[in-house]
Amino acid sequence: MVDTIQWYITCFYRFVSIPEERVDNLREEIRSWMDDHQMRGLVLVSTEGLNGTVSGDPEVLPKFKQKICEWAGTEVHFKDSQSNVRPFRRLSVDKRLEIVGMKRPDLVPDEVENHHLTPKEWHEMLSAENPPLLIDTRNKYETLAGKFVGAVDPQIDNFSDWGKYLDSAEIPKEEPVLIYCTGGIRCEKAILEMHQRGFEKVYQLRDGIIGYLAEYPNGLFDGDCYVFDERVALDQNLKPTTRLGNCPGCGLTAEIKRTCEYCGKDYFVCTACQDTWEPVCNKTCRDRWQHVVRKKNAKNQDPLA
Ligand SMILES: [Zn+2]
Ligand SMILES: [Zn+2]
Repeated sequence: MVDTIQWYITCFYRFVSIPEERVDNLREEIRSWMDDHQMRGLVLVSTEGLNGTVSGDPEVLPKFKQKICEWAGTEVHFKDSQSNVRPFRRLSVDKRLEIVGMKRPDLVPDEVENHHLTPKEWHEMLSAENPPLLIDTRNKYETLAGKFVGAVDPQIDNFSDWGKYLDSAEIPKEEPVLIYCTGGIRCEKAILEMHQRGFEKVYQLRDGIIGYLAEYPNGLFDGDCYVFDERVALDQNLKPTTRLGNCPGCGLTAEIKRTCEYCGKDYFVCTACQDTWEPVCNKTCRDRWQHVVRKKNAKNQDPLA
């Protein structure tokens, strides 16, 4: 590890009411502060709060956290990790209708703690002889990388389909149900959507899979935890995965390892694309590789070449 660069990452979210007229200025304030401090990553700003995953120097991150608490006007909880893979190429601070895309801006959590379970409570509940029904709220390309042992996978393509799933799934409403996601934010809305439909005993995993793995590596979570940055997924020790990638053909989770015929780098291709995608690691390599192949073919056909 001596000669590899370490990237320091933190993620956070906070539902807090931000006046509409303040959102644009706040967005710009956050963006310029982060830019001044050479930070990267993605922060979403909305009237319902703040959500972000960012990287920065270890001296800068504590100051950043303090600033976020100031901007939010309240306590914010952060989850840290480190990576030897650069997680973000650039900085984006975006204004959104929601800080988590559910297409339900009307569903805003008003309590900080809404039926949260700590990783320990979660672990104990799932370790019981008859564990309650457990449902993964994430998308199917995420569950492909890994999920909790015994979890129901709704096979949704998008979080905005959560309501549709609930309507079709015939889940008993009076029985306890446990839900989880990557870092906890989706469950804050998923639980409201369940309450609206009459589910009585829903519990969510505080800080999501990331929080659980921090306390229970190699516990009840099976596989890797998909993340929305260049680390692709995190292993049991919250380090970037070495067994998965994003498919250069379709962009989704891929597990078949290959070597690029143009640049020589290893990459992963998914099962759906393995026969149709060219043997290269990305679109740039594909263009160059195709050029080389065309030239070679032309040469073979022309006896004077
Ligand atoms: Zn693919
Ligand atoms: Zn390549």
